[in-house]
Amino acid sequence: MGKPQKIVVVGAGPVGSLAALYAAKRGHDVEVYELRPDLRDPGTIPLNFTRSINLAISERGINAMRHAGQPGLLEHVMASTIPMRGRMIHGRHPNGTLFAQSQDYDAKGRAIHAIDRAGLNKRVLDILDDMPNVKLFFNHKLTGADYRTCKAWFEVQDSNPDNVSRAKEIGISFDLMIGADGAHSAVRYHLMKFTRMNYQQEYIDTLWCEFQLKPVRTDTAAEPLSRFRISPNYLHIWPGKDFMFIAIPSDDGSFTCTLFMPSKEFSDLESDTSKLPAFFDSHFPGVTDLIPAAELIESFNSNPHLPLISLKCKPYHYGSSCVVVGDAAHAMVPFYGQGMNAGMEDVRILFSILDKHAQMDETNDPASEATTSTTPAFQRSLALAEYSAVRPADAHAINDLALQNYVEMRASVLSTRYRLRKFLEEFMSVHFPTLGWQTKYSRVSFSNEGYLDVIRKSDSQGRALMRSFFALAASPFAVTAAVLGYKYRRSIGNILRALPNGQP
Ligand code: FAD
Repeated sequence: MGKPQKIVVVGAGPVGSLAALYAAKRGHDVEVYELRPDLRDPGTIPLNFTRSINLAISERGINAMRHAGQPGLLEHVMASTIPMRGRMIHGRHPNGTLFAQSQDYDAKGRAIHAIDRAGLNKRVLDILDDMPNVKLFFNHKLTGADYRTCKAWFEVQDSNPDNVSRAKEIGISFDLMIGADGAHSAVRYHLMKFTRMNYQQEYIDTLWCEFQLKPVRTDTAAEPLSRFRISPNYLHIWPGKDFMFIAIPSDDGSFTCTLFMPSKEFSDLESDTSKLPAFFDSHFPGVTDLIPAAELIESFNSNPHLPLISLKCKPYHYGSSCVVVGDAAHAMVPFYGQGMNAGMEDVRILFSILDKHAQMDETNDPASEATTSTTPAFQRSLALAEYSAVRPADAHAINDLALQNYVEMRASVLSTRYRLRKFLEEFMSVHFPTLGWQTKYSRVSFSNEGYLDVIRKSDSQGRALMRSFFALAASPFAVTAAVLGYKYRRSIGNILRALPNGQP
């Protein structure tokens, strides 16, 4: 977008604030409208979360920050992250003893990172606050929008909770509205009235609830810091057939833990929370040694039991005036740790397409008579149409992968085929790097390949691997296989034993 335009971003979550930064760096007049109070004010909690929680950020989110054009942003944000090199699977052996088995995420040692979602968000808001072409409006809720006339209406809440009844409405105009207002997006709701949007949503039968695993406090003069109770460099998983408990480290020494469980089990436990510690002992062995029973019950009672939604829509835009990104466009279940990453990637891709069309605008001869085909609005409409043409397929792909991973985490644990394939793919990736073999997880988390390409490559790689493996086993070359098998028997055995129930 060559000439400065008025860009309105709705939603100041991680995706909206990054979109505002991308727009501001291109010299546009940017206004950000956020329903909630300023996250940086003490006591403000992000929507749907009980406190500032940690998420997994990986290459796509990192790459989006890398391309934001803001020196130091990535370094600042990453400085307080904790690398998680793999999963630590916790369970109980048949003889009753507890075990914890680690499994690296990547044969090449790459890690995902635990990041404080609010910390990332606050840093970008601080940067936006210092930019003369950006205005931030908190306590502003989008209530209406007309994308033909480029007007929108916001309800302005008095930040004093005693004055709720004094909400007033304001009207604004814009050239482009970027809807980054989350899964229950009002921007998307109004967009549906202007474009023939296909829309699909599903609530899976799983609720989630947050817990906290507190650090060991060593408040001595010599060692005043808090320490992690379990290794911080892993995403800890207590798998169960229908349930799962996970723990992600925070840099204060604590872990943000999440219980995922079908609604029926939540209802059963809600009716008698005294059963909770025994339930944990039976399904998540060892957790009550880390989180005292009373704290488990307290968190279960006081923290919300929230649903998980998976949604797809298409197209993402209307004309030159509106586009949705992040959860507003493709909220997904969290089992691949990609929701925020994909949303941040949306921003990078959207602006690269807008830039490409803006350059075309600039290469038009300014001396020639201006026609609608040379206006920023026209170029932007081409860019948004291109974005809507290319991005949904990838967003739908990661949406599906996230749902599949949920099934995989509960069901694939004992599948020899699944574990064998992972071993073979990692073996090929390490020993024959020029062939470009990688696990699906590595492609999703450590690359910027389109998600749909990831599925295609992974499917064809899987078919080829299995064909070769079975052909080899059935042929005279089986001797070779046996030799290889002997050579790597121990590592196969170790790997198969260590293979987890899935890969969040
Ligand atoms: P949001 O974070 O939902 O922000 C939307 C903003 O819009 C909010 O601030 C809201 O107040 C505002 N808003 C809403 N309505 C209006 C309105 N009408 N007017 C004005 N403002 C409005 N992702 C990962 O990448 N890695 C993970 O490990 C991960 N783990 C997760 C674990 C759980 C349990 C859950 C639930 C999600 C997880 N996610 C993860 C997903 C991630 O949280 C989301 O994808 C991400 O927060 C989406 O960011 P967003 O900015 O698009 O939307």
